[in-house]
Amino acid sequence: MLPDIKSLTREELQTRFKNWNEPVYRVTQLLDWLYARRAMAWDAMTNLPKQLREKLRENFSLQTLELVRKQGAHDTTQKFLWRLRDHSLVESVLIPANPALYSDASDRHTLCISTQVGCAYGCKFCASGLDGWKRNLTPDEIVEQVLAVERWNEEKVRSENVERRTEGGSHLAPPTSHFVNNIVVMGMGEPLANYDNLMKALKILNAPWGGGIGARKITISTSGLAPQIRRLAKEPMQFRLAISLHSATDEMRNKIMPVNRKYPLKELIHACEEYQYEKGRMITLEYILIAGANDSIDQAGPLASLAHKLFAKVNLIPYNKVDGLKWERPSEEVCEKFLTALEKQKVTATLRREKGGDIDAACGQLRLKTERELAKTV
Ligand code: SAH
Ligand code: SF4
Repeated sequence: MLPDIKSLTREELQTRFKNWNEPVYRVTQLLDWLYARRAMAWDAMTNLPKQLREKLRENFSLQTLELVRKQGAHDTTQKFLWRLRDHSLVESVLIPANPALYSDASDRHTLCISTQVGCAYGCKFCASGLDGWKRNLTPDEIVEQVLAVERWNEEKVRSENVERRTEGGSHLAPPTSHFVNNIVVMGMGEPLANYDNLMKALKILNAPWGGGIGARKITISTSGLAPQIRRLAKEPMQFRLAISLHSATDEMRNKIMPVNRKYPLKELIHACEEYQYEKGRMITLEYILIAGANDSIDQAGPLASLAHKLFAKVNLIPYNKVDGLKWERPSEEVCEKFLTALEKQKVTATLRREKGGDIDAACGQLRLKTERELAKTV
């Protein structure tokens, strides 16, 4: 199978073009087609000589993602289910504004992207890990999730403009070159278990010649792979880091997240401290509230201590029910009480109150549902 062109950085393309005796400015033209115009075919690249297009075609694939299903309304959370070339399914979720994550008024569109097909970490409450791990996504498959949503938006704006024109309206929506301006790596899979491909994809999405999305607008979420957190601390790029904590005691964390047996809290905390020491950046602790498991007030105490120790903020997320799993979302009252308990202990905390659950917004759910439906029809 040929490597995909969107898995290469500018430097790698420059080396390749040099070997081919192609002038360097051709790389700039190619990158413009790939990331600014989001071309889907070699033949669209009309300012590249035909023989160069042929050479590219012989050496690289130019994959795009096929949209198989979309859920959600226009102005709310929208979920995209993509089919990859081996027919695997992955998801991306578009969130119109996410002040809970960034408390940033300019945060308009956040895209949650996947990094693996399935997940090997098997957290007890999560749909992504239910059928195990299938494979890592390649850098281009990670990058393409952003480009495909940009193309989808472009198409939408275009058709809305046509509609308005036919209705005789004169107000055309302006073209949006960068619709997605924040990325959260919180979709299917454990991003730090696909470290090299993730780093390459984020480098491409971050580069001015690529996606042009600032590193500070990119958040990586991990279930707690301590060695990779240390490795991330040494990277030159300033990504935000979120830890899926879900409990601040080893006893409870062991029960719901098997990864904690490999990297218990002590080790995870050390790695987080190292990250902070190297980066000087605030970490977010993600905490799903699951009824009867980690939502009792006596769990708020250790969480508050840990948040203080790490100078971290806490993001409380009411659990989204997963078909086939026993876990439930606590009542609003319980969630509010947990938040208040943290606030009383002077922890900076937010509670997500929107209803993403309506569209199976929890990671891995739409894929699981679709695969089960497909299995029934075969
Ligand atoms: N593997 C990484 C990133 C993907 S999961 C990680 O675990 O951090 C992204 C987030 O969704 C994690 O915080 C995860 O715990 C959470 N999550 C998984 N299933 C969920 C559910 N049913 N409801 C709410 N959040 C869920
Ligand atoms: Fe994997 Fe994250 Fe789901 Fe755990 S929560 S199974 S690490 S995707």
